[in-house]
Amino acid sequence: MNKLFAANWKMHKTQAEAASTTSDLARLCSSLPAGREVLLIAPFTALAATKAAISEAHHFALGAQNFYPATHGAFTGEISPAMLMDCGASYALSGHSERRHILGETDAFVGEKTAFGLKAGLKMILCVGEKLEERKAGQLTEVLTRQIRAGLSGVTADCDAESISVAYEPVWAIGTGLVAGPTEILEAHALTRKLLVEIFGEKGRQVRILYGGSVKPDNAAEIIALDNVDGVLVGGASLKADDFSRIVLA
Ligand code: PEP
Repeated sequence: MNKLFAANWKMHKTQAEAASTTSDLARLCSSLPAGREVLLIAPFTALAATKAAISEAHHFALGAQNFYPATHGAFTGEISPAMLMDCGASYALSGHSERRHILGETDAFVGEKTAFGLKAGLKMILCVGEKLEERKAGQLTEVLTRQIRAGLSGVTADCDAESISVAYEPVWAIGTGLVAGPTEILEAHALTRKLLVEIFGEKGRQVRILYGGSVKPDNAAEIIALDNVDGVLVGGASLKADDFSRIVLA
């Protein structure tokens, strides 16, 4: 399976900034090694501009950070999967820790979104991860099991496993500069793989597992080489084309 290098731009970048970062990235990554794919997860308002700028970059895809699980209707301020696909997005996130912990999204809602997005035709990246106090209390297995089982509870067994990724993002490592060490990543990713095989059978081996949490140009190569690490989800270090290209080419 190809390794996925996903940039989560969060609430950053105007249309012009997104287009110029994308063009710079396409130039810097013009000789992308085989087996690597780049995904730019832009804010809603910059989706179309980012799509236009990636049109000539092979192995670049566009993703959205969120949507509401309904086709249309009276949901003021929300946006549907079809609207995202209309702007060129083929991927979306669900369960990002900032949506769970700042915006109050529950495990059940994250599960509803993941299943809805897949049915609508999006590739979904389900984000999971423990808070520092949960890790300290020895609750890693419990938290990941709960978030992964709930996050995938509406996904049917006949799903296309390659349309699903799970991103392990320890909350204490997101945007903090603290990166999980190889032992912590290996443990969490092995547990995630085990759960995916329990849920989907052998198909669970084709689901990509990404690591996210303070990935930088100087730690990316070591992380991406670890067992069961099929890509990375990068926040802060994805905002500058130069930094993110060094991660993608690491
Ligand atoms: C993220 O937002 O998914 C993330 C991993 O952020 P950062 O790389 O900044 O820790």
